[in-house]
Amino acid sequence: MAKSAARRGKLWTTPAVQALRAAKDVDVAELDAAGTPGFRGDKVAGAALLAEREPRLSALQEKLYANGRSGDHRAVLLVLQGMDTAGKGGIVRHVIGAVDPQGVDHASFGVPTEEEKQHHYLWRIRNALPRAGRIGVFDRSHYEDVLVVRVHNLVPPDVWEPRYDEINAFEKEVVDAGTAIVKVALVISKDEQHDRLRERLERPDKYWKYNPGDVDERGFWPDYQQAYQAMLDRTNTAHAPWFLLPADRKWFARLAVTELLIHTLESMDLDWPPPNFDVETELRRLG
Ligand code: AMP
Ligand code: MG
Repeated sequence: MAKSAARRGKLWTTPAVQALRAAKDVDVAELDAAGTPGFRGDKVAGAALLAEREPRLSALQEKLYANGRSGDHRAVLLVLQGMDTAGKGGIVRHVIGAVDPQGVDHASFGVPTEEEKQHHYLWRIRNALPRAGRIGVFDRSHYEDVLVVRVHNLVPPDVWEPRYDEINAFEKEVVDAGTAIVKVALVISKDEQHDRLRERLERPDKYWKYNPGDVDERGFWPDYQQAYQAMLDRTNTAHAPWFLLPADRKWFARLAVTELLIHTLESMDLDWPPPNFDVETELRRLG
């Protein structure tokens, strides 16, 4: 334990929660997508550390779940945004794989269905918020309504423009109700996206991930960068901060998200819930 703590201390020169926190004046186009901010280990060291940290995440998640079962209303929501192939799915698989799936409320958001279109854009989001004691994972989110929607003018500017403030207010409400929000923007380089899309076209086991529309979206790269920049400028709040995660290296993205979740759960000061029965009496009854 002491040894691994020392190793960890050496590998993270700055805690992930600080190193990845989006700065107020951040320029998303300037970010090095292949970087590993705050971390000075390589892939092998990162993978080893991840294996070591997963049990910690799992133990904390069990405590959150136990508290949820005992009437605590708190929860955690991990919001994942990123361009196609940025690795959102891999993070979901990884996070859910590291903890008890019972304790995870997962939701992914695609093009709104006919039913969803009949409602306010936050309707489907509210319906998918994590239940008490759960870690919610959003693969895409309400931010699509200021990203793809903005890039393609799916609604006019006077409709999407007020959404930034509306989203901030919505998230405040969620946080005040006891759900900690961790927002992660996965940033890949255009070159890395090219390679990942190409791989999807070269490997039969990856065809299912390929969508011809991804190449169309790729053509809007600068517009997406602008939309991501606006999202960061306008919704990077103290109550629901953005973390900017370089995602060209999958091992780093997974390690970093694990650390962010561990940090969030540790900040909740979770304890095992007290018994709602008399232990002595029950021991006597059991014999
Ligand atoms: P995927 O995550 O690969 O399953 O793709 C989902 C697609 O749904 C992406 O192209 C998103 O941009 C799109 N999408 C998600 N939310 C919205 C939205 N509110 N309006 C329009 N398109 C959306
Ligand atoms: Mg896709």
